[in-house]
Amino acid sequence: MVASNISGVRFDVDEETALILESIDEFVEREVDPIVEELGDLATNPRRGYHEDGRWTDELLEAREEIRRRSAEAGFYAMTLPEAYGGEGVSTVTWYLAKKRLASHGPGLARYVLAGPEGPKPLLLQAEGEQIERYLEPTIRAEKSTAFAQTEPGVGSDSPNMATTASREGDKWVINGRKQWITNAPYADFVQVFARTTPQEEAGRYGGITCFLLERDEYELGAFNNAVGSPGAQAEIVLDDVRVSDSRVLGEVDGAFYAAMEFLSLGRLELGAEAVGYSEFALEAAAEYAGQREAFGRQVGRFQQVSAPLARGKAKTYAADAAGLKLAWKMAQDQRTVMESSIFKWFATTVFWEVADAAVQIHGANGLAEENPHMDLLHQARILRIVEGTDEIQLNTIAKSMGLLD
Ligand SMILES: Cc1cc2nc3c(=O)[nH]c(=O)nc-3n(C[C@H](O)[C@H](O)[C@H](O)COP(=O)(O)OP(=O)(O)OC[C@H]3O[C@@H](n4cnc5c(N)ncnc54)[C@H](O)[C@@H]3O)c2cc1C
Repeated sequence: MVASNISGVRFDVDEETALILESIDEFVEREVDPIVEELGDLATNPRRGYHEDGRWTDELLEAREEIRRRSAEAGFYAMTLPEAYGGEGVSTVTWYLAKKRLASHGPGLARYVLAGPEGPKPLLLQAEGEQIERYLEPTIRAEKSTAFAQTEPGVGSDSPNMATTASREGDKWVINGRKQWITNAPYADFVQVFARTTPQEEAGRYGGITCFLLERDEYELGAFNNAVGSPGAQAEIVLDDVRVSDSRVLGEVDGAFYAAMEFLSLGRLELGAEAVGYSEFALEAAAEYAGQREAFGRQVGRFQQVSAPLARGKAKTYAADAAGLKLAWKMAQDQRTVMESSIFKWFATTVFWEVADAAVQIHGANGLAEENPHMDLLHQARILRIVEGTDEIQLNTIAKSMGLLD
């Protein structure tokens, strides 16, 4: 036996994590499923849950808020944040597994059991003084929701080149600009807006950017940015001479971009975990269908052209999960993960895209049916390959780590 010589690396799930995952499944069954059942189409079909003007229906929004609140009460919602502020302080590995487990329940409202873009991100832990009670803690308790606003009409990937500015006038900051594609902007109680406070020529590419906490009545909402697969969730924020005091600066003046970069890996881990969980859901559904549906006198899964994409998808999803676990483990040890987080985000989301496409194909016309989740998953996969750094940006980061790009 050589087992006793193995040290340092573990691939099993510890008891506490196993309990959390089990409790999440129970929570979804007990608290989320009945709400989804009651809402019917409104909850399961993204094309039904919003008004003509772009807003989600009140029922959908209330359901989301109810799930967030109950989850916060049960201790799931912000589980990764420190206990001192009302989180649970769980490890990145546990959080990765929990995010993945939720996604493996399929697309829909279950995703709000764990904080997403509408909830507290570690960036918000920079809150100080009154900001803690006013913004951080109520967001952890899911009593308030927020949004993270960097993207603009002129910049997305190249966000340090933002045109939004904040300049000093007396004891106030005056903010001008426009943000777009901001998730949860239409429903947020406050937004975290990034603005240039010192020109690039003086502060350098990543310096000179400050994050401001702006409340709902302090900015205008522009048009909705309705992505196929995510209607009603994103909108523009119009900043027209918005005046706020120093008390609204989150973290250091001129230091917001560096602070945000510290949490890049976490965002990539989160989206990759969703991609792996959704892939698992899609594979299971497609394998089940292929085992039942018959054509030419046998189950379609018996045709190699049907089984091969599923087998390939299974193998790639397994590999993506292993990459996700390794990334989460390295992050839990505070190790540098710039390259690994790009590898995982790129790989997990492209695998999800392939798997979701195969799942649609294997379901034939039923794969395209509005009432089935398969096309919704395909749309989700497409979105995940663009947000939090596109495929190309992730590949650039990997190429940089190989010394191929500056
Ligand atoms: C559903 C959804 C939700 C979103 N939520 C938010 C949010 O909450 N907050 C927020 O701030 N933003 C949000 N965004 C915006 C998102 O972050 C950007 O869309 C993303 O960063 C890409 O920017 P872009 O769309 O401007 O594309 P661009 O940056 O204009 O890129 C266009 C194309 O060029 C490629 N490209 C760009 N630079 C390079 C390069 N150096 N090398 C190779 N290829 C390159 C890109 O990969 C892409 O294919 C959201 C977007 C969507 C669709």
